[in-house]
Amino acid sequence: KAKEAGRARMTLYDPAMDTDRAQRNVLELDLRMAIESGDLTLAYQPLVDASTHEMNGVEALVRWNRPGYGPVSPEVFIPIAETSGLIESLGLFVLRKACETAKQWPELKISVNVSPGQFRNPAFTDYVRYVLKQTEIDASRVTLEITEGYMIQNPQRTRQSIERLKSLGVKVALDDFGSGFSSIGYLRQFGFDRIKIDRSLVTDIIGDSRQREMLQATVALARALDIPVTAEGIETEEQAVALRLFGCDSLQGYFFGKPMTAEHINDRLQERREARVLRRIVG
Ligand code: C2E
Ligand code: MG
Ligand code: MG
Ligand code: MG
Repeated sequence: KAKEAGRARMTLYDPAMDTDRAQRNVLELDLRMAIESGDLTLAYQPLVDASTHEMNGVEALVRWNRPGYGPVSPEVFIPIAETSGLIESLGLFVLRKACETAKQWPELKISVNVSPGQFRNPAFTDYVRYVLKQTEIDASRVTLEITEGYMIQNPQRTRQSIERLKSLGVKVALDDFGSGFSSIGYLRQFGFDRIKIDRSLVTDIIGDSRQREMLQATVALARALDIPVTAEGIETEEQAVALRLFGCDSLQGYFFGKPMTAEHINDRLQERREARVLRRIVG
């Protein structure tokens, strides 16, 4: 009886839940400050041509080094930004910074993640247009990556939003394909320019034949719809070779480079230019 009463009380007052909420509130406050004071940064991860392994683009990934705590994963703070109304300003920062930075890399495309909270906003297209104009980047070099969560609930609105974005000249990619409830039937009508296969589908393809078949089928599906495919999470050469064979034209993963600073991307481009000059001289 006492135990039961205890349990009942637990549902009303759970100190552990209180601490969770308190921690979350502090995290949210810190995040708000980080956004306002410009403490968020971007890392850039190479995207490479699947045949030549040459870097032809980068994906911008937001980073937050929380004072006194160290780095916090975007998988933790993006959802907080979404529910606390911070995603607008965070997203605007990321898009502007990524476009500004990419202007110095005319040989690269730039991919930027867009969360459902941004995408859902009817003003989103306007602010993309605004940033494109402000940063004077060539829109065709910009890819916006969106995940499927929201699409399936609102197929009609999603399709319209994608159309509006594409009319600005940017590309739109479906991110993390294969990680959730990928609704294959919708894929074609949304008009995606590219599909990114989730890392979870790539991880075990060498050791596990069932995984490999799943991945092959997924790539084949995208190709049947004439949509180019990027595979993410490539960590080994074997995976890189297999994915190219299966039909991916673009690859991304630690094997080619972890997310890095803009300076490191610059260094890579510089090395490549020097190597080209050298090849020309040496013949
Ligand atoms: P995503 O867009 O699918 O980005 C790929 C994630 O996989 C990145 O994690 C990247 O560091 C990681 N990754 C890439 N290659 C490998 C690999 O070979 N092995 C392993 N183990 N991991 C790899 P990150 O940077 O922690 O970002 C996680 C997610 O957070 C992103 O997934 C994206 O959904 C979200 N995110 C990151 N930056 C932003 C942003 O600026 N805005 C929004 N809205 N979301 C973002
Ligand atoms: Mg992404
Ligand atoms: Mg992804
Ligand atoms: Mg992901």
